[in-house]
Amino acid sequence: MSYRTEEVAYVQPAQPAAGAQSAQAAQQQRSTAEYRALDAAHHIHPFSDMGSLNRAGSRVIVKAQGVYLWDSEGNKVIDGMAGLWCVNVGYGRKELADAAYRQMQELSYYNTFFKTTHPPVIELSALLAELAPAPFNHFFYCNSGSEGNDTVLRIVHQYWATQGKHSKKVVISRKNGYHGSTIAGGTLGGMGYMHEQMPSKVENIVHIDQPYFFGEAQGNLTPEEFALARAQQLEAKILEIGADNVAAFIGEPFQGAGGVIFPASTYWPEIQRICRKYDILLAADEVIGGFGRTGEWFAHQHFGFEPDLITLAKGLTSGYIPMGAVGLHDRVAKAIIENGDFNHGLTYSGHPVAAAVAIANLKLLRDEKIVERVKSDTGPYFQKKLRDTFANHPIVGEISGAGLVAGLQLAENPKARKRFANGGDVGTICRDFCFNGNLIMRATGDRMLLSPPLVITKLEIDEIVSKAKKAIDATAQQLGIS
Ligand SMILES: *Cc1c(COP(=O)(O)O)cnc(C)c1O
Repeated sequence: MSYRTEEVAYVQPAQPAAGAQSAQAAQQQRSTAEYRALDAAHHIHPFSDMGSLNRAGSRVIVKAQGVYLWDSEGNKVIDGMAGLWCVNVGYGRKELADAAYRQMQELSYYNTFFKTTHPPVIELSALLAELAPAPFNHFFYCNSGSEGNDTVLRIVHQYWATQGKHSKKVVISRKNGYHGSTIAGGTLGGMGYMHEQMPSKVENIVHIDQPYFFGEAQGNLTPEEFALARAQQLEAKILEIGADNVAAFIGEPFQGAGGVIFPASTYWPEIQRICRKYDILLAADEVIGGFGRTGEWFAHQHFGFEPDLITLAKGLTSGYIPMGAVGLHDRVAKAIIENGDFNHGLTYSGHPVAAAVAIANLKLLRDEKIVERVKSDTGPYFQKKLRDTFANHPIVGEISGAGLVAGLQLAENPKARKRFANGGDVGTICRDFCFNGNLIMRATGDRMLLSPPLVITKLEIDEIVSKAKKAIDATAQQLGIS
């Protein structure tokens, strides 16, 4: 079984035909300065302050292979974030490119709205049913995680309508969760700044506090006691609203964009108990956690609970092409299937090319035993290496994570759990040191995040951790802490 050995077939850069100038070759002939000028002139970036970005200039990424990126200046950068948590099989896998190429020639597009279907979406659904835990046998498709969570809301409301429980309308989620950037996704997520630019939110969504021990635990609570107390806020909220009015709870098994916040083991079993007790659907947003990130196929398996709905995206196609999905537990699927029209769909629901790429991607994860490798080998190695390296670091307060995802809490006084007053600035300083050291590491406030491709080798893990150490040491030095 080839596993990121030298034999693994990467896509070879296309050789322009002699005499002919392919569009691709022409695109790559621009200088960095030209790229930056055109980018500033015509491109609005997501979640960015365009004025200051245009003045500073973006880094132009031109190529990627395995766990490495190259910029237009020829710098080789190690990608500690797998793009945006999505490139699980690593960059440049020929199998995925071939799958897209073949499918585009065979059936480039057809819809599944009006009594039609096609082989890729059928095969993908059957494969997902095989890979997901036993009760998940039905899948609905969309193009992103945000649309997946919009779909979850649709399914939740349709479900309760089929049960004749029309008053069950409120969906409970968590502050500092991330569920995407559509209006519904943004409202579910509860990151306040995302709403300041919108006149209204989606109705009937309320939030409880997050299980963020380092930042929010008071007094002498243990992590387990704190997580239990945070889970019990769900019960209090349900009692306040009335169980007859509550439709669902949604959460990421671990918060990703919120800072890789891993709740203690007491959290999810308690959430599940409460959802069952009050007859409330439990949705797990597996957009980051799904497809091997924690060493299990799905993060809810890592935490030991059974959701009714799972949102999938990112690792579903390893980011080679956009695709999202929602997996329905049998008890939810049955209600949706047997009760007339489900009025929801997107032009590209189950797109054949995306489905073909997803199948190729899932087969790599399965057949090369990449998920097992994360669980028993590279994941434990990565976690231990981080803990050994940063255990007594003067500005590292906590290391959270499992498998190949981790959050490093920067703190003024780690032992006392005292955070920096200007945490976001400290995170930005550290992120810039990483960037200049050719490591991609993300900062969320005062937490530094890592989520590398799942095919990373131990040698590459060593490189990430030593570059992260340099950046965090430099940050401490700049702050005058040693
Ligand atoms: C990225 C993300 C989303 C949104 O996915 P998009 O594809 O960006 O719409 C939703 N939920 C979680 C947990 C995510 O990390």
